Order: sequence, then C-alpha cells, then structure tokens
Amino acid sequence: MSAATRAEAAALDAADPLAHHRAAFDLPDVIYLDGNSLGPLTRAARERVATVVGEEWGEGLIRSWNTAGWVDLPTRVAAKIAPLIGAAPRDVIVTDSTSVNLFKVLSAALSEALPGRRTILSEPGNFPTDLYIAEGVAAGEGAALALSDDPLAALDESVAVLMLTEVDYRTGRRHDMARVTAAAHRVGALTVWDLAHSAGALPVDLAGAGADFAVGCGYKYLNGGPGAPAFLYVAPQHQDATQPLSGWFGHAAPFAFEPAYQPAAGIERFLTGTPSVIAMSALDAALDVFADVDLTAVAAKSAALADLMIARVDALCGDHLTLASPRSAATRGSQVSFRHPSGYPVMQALIAAGVIGDFRAPDILRFGFTPLYTRFVDVFDAVDILADILAARRWDAPQFHRRAAVT
Ligand SMILES: *Cc1c(COP(=O)(O)O)cnc(C)c1O
Repeated sequence: MSAATRAEAAALDAADPLAHHRAAFDLPDVIYLDGNSLGPLTRAARERVATVVGEEWGEGLIRSWNTAGWVDLPTRVAAKIAPLIGAAPRDVIVTDSTSVNLFKVLSAALSEALPGRRTILSEPGNFPTDLYIAEGVAAGEGAALALSDDPLAALDESVAVLMLTEVDYRTGRRHDMARVTAAAHRVGALTVWDLAHSAGALPVDLAGAGADFAVGCGYKYLNGGPGAPAFLYVAPQHQDATQPLSGWFGHAAPFAFEPAYQPAAGIERFLTGTPSVIAMSALDAALDVFADVDLTAVAAKSAALADLMIARVDALCGDHLTLASPRSAATRGSQVSFRHPSGYPVMQALIAAGVIGDFRAPDILRFGFTPLYTRFVDVFDAVDILADILAARRWDAPQFHRRAAVT
C-alpha cells in the first residue's frame, strides 16, 4: 500500500479502521515518530494520575492500598498486557524496570538450566542494558556471556540461556521467535526474550512459541509514561525457580512480617518491593486503549506506514540516506531506520522542524510507527520536511551539532 500524492495518503487515513483511536491520545502539534522510544500521553492516563494523586493519595492516604486496590496493581495491570503478548495473565507481572526484570529472569533461567551449562548467548547488537545486565548476572553466577552475530549458528550444547531482543532497536530487524525458541530447545537451552520493541506494536505469542522467560517495557508502545514500570513473563514450568531479588512483595505473606524469606507461589515471587503506584496507575489507564484493538490490524497498518516512508525516502532522499532496516515487513518490527554520516544533526534539524524521531549512534535516524495515532499524512509530510532539510543541508548549522545528554 502506498500513496504517491498527499490526497492519496489522506484517502488511506479516511479508510483506516484504526483512525478513531487517535482521539484517545493527548497529542501536541508535532509529527511524532518516536512512540517506540516514549509513547505519548493518553487522555485516560492524564485523568487517572490526577485522581490517584488528588483523591486516592490526597484523601485516602494509606487506606488506598486496600480501598483503591493499589496492592493488586502488579497483577491487574499484567492482566491487560497478557493478551498483547500471547500469555495467560497468571504468567505475567508488572514491576520494576526492564533492566531489573532482566536481572531477575536471567538469574532464574540460569537456575533452571541443564546441569553444567553456564553460558548466556546473545548478540553484540543487543540493547546495551541487556548486555550489561547479562555481564553482571554472569559475574555473580560464575557464568559466561558469549556474543555472536549469528546466534542461531552459535547455539550448541554448551548454551544455558539464549537471550535475545525480538526487534533490534537500531535496525528494526525482527527475529522469528517460534523458530529461534525451537532451535534453542533442540540443544537444551532456555530462552529469554526482550519485547521492548514488540509489545503493543506486533502480535506476540509467547505461549505459542514456547518461550521460557520474557521482559518488556511499559513506556514505549504501551504508552505508560517516562520510566513506567516494566513487565516480565515466566512460563508455568519455570515459576518455581528462585530469583535473587527476594524482597517482601515476593514473599508468600508480605504482611506476616516473618524474619525468613518464603517465596510466593507462582509469578508473584518475581516481585521485589513496593510498586510505584502513580506510575503504575498511568500505565494501567494507558493500556485501556488496547482493550478492543486487534494487533494484527496494528501490525498491518504499521507495515503500510513504513512501506510508505521507505518508498518516499527512496524517491526524495535516495541520494542522502541508506535504508538500515529490512525492506520486507515480514522481518521488520514497527520502525524504519536510515543511515546518514551526519545522522545526529540531521535528526536535530528535523525535530526543530516539528518531526520527532530519534538518533541512535553511530549514524542511525530511527522512525517508529504507532498505528493507533500515526496517520499516513504524517508520514507523507515528514518525508517532505526531511527531504528539504537534506537537499538544502539545513542540518549543517551549529545549533544542530551540539549534543544533548539524551538522544
Ligand atoms: C528500551 C529498552 C530497554 C530499557 O530498559 P530500562 O530498564 O527501562 O531502562 C531495555 N531493553 C531494550 C531492548 C530496550 O529497547
């Protein structure tokens, strides 16, 4: 599906069955192609946070742990995420950050690995925090982290755990989760999947793929707000595993105040401490936009938006940009990236012109597609603005070269 003119792009929007969801978002006047990095504010989250602060905290005080159901938030919010990732609600919990959850599930996975297996296998291009956490877990557990650009080829009977991110944060390349998980299981390895760039963007089927463990992010495609709590998934056969962050919220009876740790049965043992109630409430409200959404339709529109961007960049910016993402939607997540030797100032100039994407070192311009609020005309206009910046070298101005702390 593509559009050669703006009128054709507008016609695609007029026929789009997802178009009405845009009204659920509280969007400023920019073209936002960065919902894969920080999802926007929903109207529901704005209202919910005001209620949690003003009424539940302000009036209810400590009574709200029970009367407002704060204590159940980790499982209640998990039940909204579970259908988005092909999991039963009892196999998912919302807690902590993706990095901390990865520490917990990777440690648990090593404790479940076949005897004598101490190697965690991943890719050098995996998201840095995933590799850093794996290094830390490996150091603490007497294990080793091995990296291969072709992890399927590197899988052998020495591997304890294969740890991969389904969708590559730089290029958007997507692994075939079912096929890779089956290959890991054939050599007796367990899998840990990071769904940071999958959950809420693509249909994910953890149970169908036979995945062992997974983690994912609350503030990207799930729109939970900056630093929103993350989630983790543990397949039922691994829920007796121990995880090292044995805090009181993972205890069988947190309010019995027993001196010795006794893990809760099931997924709740993967909790650690008190949930961040305001943040968790924002995520809870934001997830309601997915209540009646078919992720197959979301993925189809995402592919169409990305195909439109690639076709227009080829036509208008082909001399300046190199596609860094798979051309085929079948092996791509919900983003498209291009390389440019001066990627950083190009992106700063684009942001100054009202089109927000992001830059990833060393040379990647990254654009995320979020079909619940991104329109075909947005993509159409964004490429016009990008083409103008490149053709006139508008990016080559001192203010666009200055590096900010967060890119
Ligand atoms: C965004 C992202 C994270 C973020 O981890 P935090 O603990 O929330 O900072 C982790 N892994 C991947 C693959 C990501 O894309």
